[in-house]
Amino acid sequence: MSSWLDAGKARLPEIRAFAKRFPFAILPVGSTEQHGPHLPLNTDTLIAERIAMETAKRSVGLVLPAMPVGYAWVWRDIPGTVTLRFDSYMQFIRDVAESLERWGVKAVFIISGHGSNPQPIKHAVRELIHEKLGIKVLFDVYAGLDQMLAEADSKRWQPEIHAEEIETSMMLAIAPDLVRMDLAEADYPPLPADYAKSELSMGHIMRSGVFGDPRPATAEKGRRWIDIAADKSAALWLAYLARHGLYDGAES
Ligand SMILES: [Zn+2]
Repeated sequence: MSSWLDAGKARLPEIRAFAKRFPFAILPVGSTEQHGPHLPLNTDTLIAERIAMETAKRSVGLVLPAMPVGYAWVWRDIPGTVTLRFDSYMQFIRDVAESLERWGVKAVFIISGHGSNPQPIKHAVRELIHEKLGIKVLFDVYAGLDQMLAEADSKRWQPEIHAEEIETSMMLAIAPDLVRMDLAEADYPPLPADYAKSELSMGHIMRSGVFGDPRPATAEKGRRWIDIAADKSAALWLAYLARHGLYDGAES
């Protein structure tokens, strides 16, 4: 039996057999939000889904269908945005954990393609799940980002990245038909001193919706960076399962 399974395509007997042998799940979480003039609204969701699938192939787990609605408060006034409130997102994570625990899942790895999701996830794990439910929850976003930034040809818009070279490259690797490179433009909005220290967020200071430079993006870079993210995520996940004595990688 393969140690990974795409839940969205699986039927009950397969799920039962898989979960009995490998009681682990991987949940990709994205966001529905603007990504400038050249990338689609579901960019973060598609990236999370692909990294989750590639992580599972290198480790273990039932890959659940991706959650397309994230915590996207910063974009709440921008057309296309659908966001949960912080508290709703925490409850969503808690409910997912309980759902999985009820049929025997012992650990879940939440892989985010959107930078803000880990905030409510972290608080949900600490306040609503840890020591309350019998399931372990690990989460991460863009594993290996430092390496990707070091390899990128464009300079980073501090302190975030959005719709720039890295995200655009990954999208060229995942869904080239959804990327309009002819419309890609660089944009480095000025950074107010109180950015992220007041109500000011990316949504307040955006211009084109891009933060950085998407023009050097290529599918080849995207494939490499997805591999880096998946390699690092798989290593983190396997070490986490081993630390909790849940899985040692050996075929049982
Ligand atoms: Zn994004």
